[in-house]
Amino acid sequence: MSRWTAAAARLRAIVPFVRKLSATEVDRYDVISRDLARRVWLIRVPILPGGYAGMTIGRVVFLARRTAPETPSTLLAHELVHVRQFSELGILRFAWRYNLAFAQGLWRLRSWNGAYRAIPAEVEARQQAGAWAIRAFRDAERASDRGVPPRSDDLN
Ligand SMILES: [Zn+2]
Repeated sequence: MSRWTAAAARLRAIVPFVRKLSATEVDRYDVISRDLARRVWLIRVPILPGGYAGMTIGRVVFLARRTAPETPSTLLAHELVHVRQFSELGILRFAWRYNLAFAQGLWRLRSWNGAYRAIPAEVEARQQAGAWAIRAFRDAERASDRGVPPRSDDLN
């Protein structure tokens, strides 16, 4: 057990709704670098504003409790793309661009949901998480062809 895994296990015993990605997840969610993935915090919360299933601020990913615990999780892949976007731009610049794009979309489209979906950071996160999900699905299929049981650890 690496120092990092041991620290994550200790943390989880103290605050069960806060955790880091497992080593398997760090490998699996290749939408971001391993280095960055290891520094992500996952926090389960009862509910998120606007009824969203996931929300990311910097390296902290909030997942609504009602979110299905299935793996692989396209939702988590999506939020991890946001972690990368935050790390590239910095929290303030990311938040500024995100909200500006949302406001412009709202003005242009007159639709809350349409404006949200048109935010460039959301478009990128959807595309990358979608491509990731297809890769993950193919990997799982190849594994089952070889008779390897699917991995069922991780997310809770
Ligand atoms: Zn998003």
